[in-house]
Amino acid sequence: MKKRIAILPGDGIGPEVCESATKVLNEIGRLYNHEFDFVYGDLGGVAIDKTGSPLPEETLSICKSSDAVLLGAVGGPKWDTLPGHQRPEQGLLGLRKQLELFANLRPVTIYDSLAEASPLKDEIIEGVDLLIVRELTGGIYFGEPRERRGEGEQETAVDTLVYSRQEVERIVRKGFEFAQERRGHLTSVDKANVLESSRLWREIVDEVAKDYPEVTYSHMLVDNAAMQLIRNPRQFDVVVTENMFGDILSDEASMITGSLGMLPSASMSANGPGLFEPIHGSAPDIAGKGIANPLATLSSLTMMLTFAFKLPNEAQALQEAINTVLEKGYRTADLTKDATDALSTNEMTQRVIEAL
Ligand code: ATP
Ligand code: MG
Repeated sequence: MKKRIAILPGDGIGPEVCESATKVLNEIGRLYNHEFDFVYGDLGGVAIDKTGSPLPEETLSICKSSDAVLLGAVGGPKWDTLPGHQRPEQGLLGLRKQLELFANLRPVTIYDSLAEASPLKDEIIEGVDLLIVRELTGGIYFGEPRERRGEGEQETAVDTLVYSRQEVERIVRKGFEFAQERRGHLTSVDKANVLESSRLWREIVDEVAKDYPEVTYSHMLVDNAAMQLIRNPRQFDVVVTENMFGDILSDEASMITGSLGMLPSASMSANGPGLFEPIHGSAPDIAGKGIANPLATLSSLTMMLTFAFKLPNEAQALQEAINTVLEKGYRTADLTKDATDALSTNEMTQRVIEAL
């Protein structure tokens, strides 16, 4: 098949890990007879430097006319002095909003060969394989009003946590759909003992559940969920939750693995292109050195192949290639204490291509 992919390398190590991804996609295209066309766009700091805007119109139109978007990372110390609303990160927030990427998917899996990196005991993490489905375009991050009122001793600040029935229903459905394709269990996380929005959320989960009789589901309060993720992460298959709870829980869950450089993410809309990116940031401390771990970005490609292109065989081949290089002991600097053996980004990419 023929697919057009928007590549937004961004800042820091973004361009390095994206180059790795395009090489691997080219190889998959060659092996399985697909044509992947790349169109490049600027986002974040690099876009500010070139155009003054972190999300130029041209980038948006490139993304909208593509079948999927691959993002490296945005941000870095160079732009940290800019006012909040002009920062590189605004480019990504704007892109999520414009592409209506309401469902953020963060899988958390343990690679047996990297288990020693986890801060948790072997018996707790063995076999952990969960997916966090986070609502991404609503809730307290976007609700109005959001403002300061009064001054001095009387000053107050207000944020608004608001969800519509339709916003909750579409993300909850995603949760059930993924649970159905996976091990058949959904945990819906809320704070229904305190929040009205959570009581609406819970009601909708109970309604939607009727359409998925083969999925077992349960409700869990967010404070309990934070504890259970550390105490017994294996109990989770799919976790669905609102924007802020998902933000916090997905960072917590990513640390179960101990390897930030390994974890992928996908953000999906109803019909338009999805956006695929590693969960790590632009890593300014190692940018330009050619030592970034490309595996989180390559793992994001497996999500692109699965969800955007419906190519499960190709996705599985790539996942197995990643497993193979790790089992053979190949490590980038972030994954090993023995720096003399560490592979560069290019070398790691080459090993994956050979394993493919
Ligand atoms: P953000 O603010 O965008 O969330 P951050 O500042 O929290 O990002 P990162 O930029 O992800 O964090 O970097 C955190 C640490 O992890 C840094 O020391 C960085 O070098 C390291 N790191 C992150 N990604 C990788 C990678 N792909 N390969 C190697 N090291 C990485
Ligand atoms: Mg940071």
